Amino acid sequence: MPDFSPVDYAVPGFVALVLIEMIWARFRRREAYEARDTLVSLAFGLGSTVSGLLTGGFFFLLFLWTWQFRLFDIGWAWWAWALCFVLDDLKYYWVHRAGHRIRWMWAAHVNHHSSQHYNLSTALRQTWTNPLTFGFLFALPLVLLGFHPVMIAICGGFNLIYQFWIHTEAIDRMPRWFEAVMNTPSHHRVHHATNPRYLDRNYAGVFIVWDKMFGTFESESDEEKIRYGIIKQLGSFNLLWAVFHEWIGIVQDMWRAPWGSKLGYLLREPGWTHDGSRETSDMIRARWLAGREEASLAEIPVANQNPIAGQGEPA
Ligand SMILES: [Zn+2]
Ligand SMILES: [Zn+2]
Repeated sequence: MPDFSPVDYAVPGFVALVLIEMIWARFRRREAYEARDTLVSLAFGLGSTVSGLLTGGFFFLLFLWTWQFRLFDIGWAWWAWALCFVLDDLKYYWVHRAGHRIRWMWAAHVNHHSSQHYNLSTALRQTWTNPLTFGFLFALPLVLLGFHPVMIAICGGFNLIYQFWIHTEAIDRMPRWFEAVMNTPSHHRVHHATNPRYLDRNYAGVFIVWDKMFGTFESESDEEKIRYGIIKQLGSFNLLWAVFHEWIGIVQDMWRAPWGSKLGYLLREPGWTHDGSRETSDMIRARWLAGREEASLAEIPVANQNPIAGQGEPA
């Protein structure tokens, strides 16, 4: 099969930029890099490339087979490329959102989030188990519309390349117009944060507008320091545990659960339990919001808290 993935050609650039950022971190932000964490991230990158090579051909053939049922002959014009890139990014938004909201898909995507550091090597931290999620099915509507599978694969590759540079703390904010439309380091730091206000926000790949359209956007606050990683941190640099821990957790939970709720541990959001013994991101956010409201009420003088108090008195 011909190699048309632009990602492979970008690898030397990735390595060079990681090295440059390491030098920057050495002088400006020592805590940005941790040697073992970086090694695990690189191993993830290598392993996901191998798993992609092993399974990519199957998906590609499936797409080619599906393409014969296409609705339109879209062809290879410049506008077809542009349209394909935008629609593929919309697809990315939804597959990424599903990756956070369906535990079965999260079991693969959690790998990208399990580092407590945020640097360019985090971008290379890609899952080995993507083929198990069937996330590729999200691209089938594009194939059926008539975009050629090669075009979709190339657009997807450029999408991934774009997402590399936003994994950095070295860039604070981009110009306002750019922050308004594009995914940026600032927006994506929010996505990697575990602070309640940031949970399950900013799923965008290239264009941040999807999050604004679908109600999942949150901007980065300068007041709150970001805590990176996942709710229940790995606490280990064991590579195999890092790769499979969530899959193992699903099997254990399903084994122990009563029959009626087994599937919930597979298909519902991470943190869901049949007995409410753990918290989902929505529950964590709701608890945080309630705490914030309580705190702000405590700051208001008591007389103003009671709508009856003070009535009838001259203003
Ligand atoms: Zn994510
Ligand atoms: Zn990321």
